[in-house]
Amino acid sequence: MSFADLGLSDELLRAVAEAGYDEPTPIQRQAIPSVLMMRDLIGIAQTGTGKTASFVLPMIDILAQGRSRARMPRSLILEPTRELAAQVAENFEKYGKHHKLSMALLIGGVSMGDQQKALEKGVDVLIATPGRLMDLFGRGKIMLNDCNLLVIDEADRMLDMGFIPDIEEICSKLPAQRQTLLFSATMPAPIKKLADKFLTSPKTIEVARPATANASIDQRLLKVDARKKKQVLIDRLSGHDVRTAIVFSNRKTTVRDLAKDLKRAGLRAGEIHGDMEQPERIRELDRFKEGEINILVASDVAARGLDIKDVSHVFNYDVPWHPDDYIHRIGRTGRAGKTGIAITLATPADAEAVEAIEKLTGAKIRPVEGPAAPAEPDAAPAPDDAEAPRRGRARGGRQAQDRPAREERPRREPRPPRAERSERGSARREPEEERPRHDERPARPRRPEPEPDEEGWNGPIPSFLGQTLGS
Ligand code: AMP
Repeated sequence: MSFADLGLSDELLRAVAEAGYDEPTPIQRQAIPSVLMMRDLIGIAQTGTGKTASFVLPMIDILAQGRSRARMPRSLILEPTRELAAQVAENFEKYGKHHKLSMALLIGGVSMGDQQKALEKGVDVLIATPGRLMDLFGRGKIMLNDCNLLVIDEADRMLDMGFIPDIEEICSKLPAQRQTLLFSATMPAPIKKLADKFLTSPKTIEVARPATANASIDQRLLKVDARKKKQVLIDRLSGHDVRTAIVFSNRKTTVRDLAKDLKRAGLRAGEIHGDMEQPERIRELDRFKEGEINILVASDVAARGLDIKDVSHVFNYDVPWHPDDYIHRIGRTGRAGKTGIAITLATPADAEAVEAIEKLTGAKIRPVEGPAAPAEPDAAPAPDDAEAPRRGRARGGRQAQDRPAREERPRREPRPPRAERSERGSARREPEEERPRHDERPARPRRPEPEPDEEGWNGPIPSFLGQTLGS
């Protein structure tokens, strides 16, 4: 099936061809005709599947008819993070280049002035994070009565970040007669409830996880002694096959220290994590994209969703605490038809985390030869011991006590360490305050704040901001 079979306009087909796409991805094949027929849709799909184009392309054709009115956007796309919001905006810019649609981007960390001006004039598409949108709505700067098309993207991530009440409120302000598209990598109960409440007879589409289906990523498991982990990483990064690499760590502090150590070892390394100011992140990302540095040490939140072409390697310096993060991490390589290598460094203490990943992906990570790993599991925790934070981390990365009860996701009860497992019932849990703080994912943004404390913005700011497309 080609893009021409999907019912898209000639202008869009031209833009798609110019983007270099030969054929639609499975989600695009299934979603685009339904969206064009104005049906509600549930798309169970992750980033990397081409899901953004599956809603952006038909939206452009739908919006090509009709005109926008001042302060009344005609469509709304909700994204959990600034990063993802801007990537969607870039997609609109790319595919909408032969159309004359206007859009505004409402995200934290970017001045609101220009965006408000764009809104005043009237926009066809508003792309927003819930916190910033509610803030503006509360100040009477925006009306949603004319917004007949709503996209809720990455709904399970919204749930993790505590945005569901905001989304419910936003939905209630939109016309009841509208088209709603909901995308989510998974369908936990609260998301299902949200869909039941706000979607009408939706078509449900489910596509394979890109990482599990993605044969272009060569996944390897390198067993290491915790004490030698850093040196093993440096040796691997020094290998001639590593052109560009993103190195993931579970903690911001490790990201910082590791980047320093890699630089000391003579490697061209930079860093990106949640503690950095936005301009600093953008600068670091640009240095990586332009080749000034070829190694980027990153935290999960900062690197999530980043679409950087040509990353030859991903290294998991730490095995991620949650298996979903593994999929997101390795998805930074093997993109756009290229092949990539994902190497996970695992100490004996990481055995359960690796097991959880393999259970999720349904495949064993291929073990590869490395420096001799210790035969017995380490009794002493390693400096970056993944076990303890795993115990303290609720799904979605926040400490259990930080999360609003109404959005509590069903938590997977962590298994006790192997030594304790034989004595079921006596398995000891660490007291809450002794658990290491997971310092990456921030708590729900409080309103009204000029700069919602949501995930830090770490991508380029699209040039079109507030401009008319195609002009
Ligand atoms: P997404 O799942 O929306 O994050 O898209 C992942 C990547 O796939 C992005 O870099 C898109 O530009 C790219 N992409 C989207 N649709 C296609 C297609 N039909 N053929 C090739 N690449 C695509």
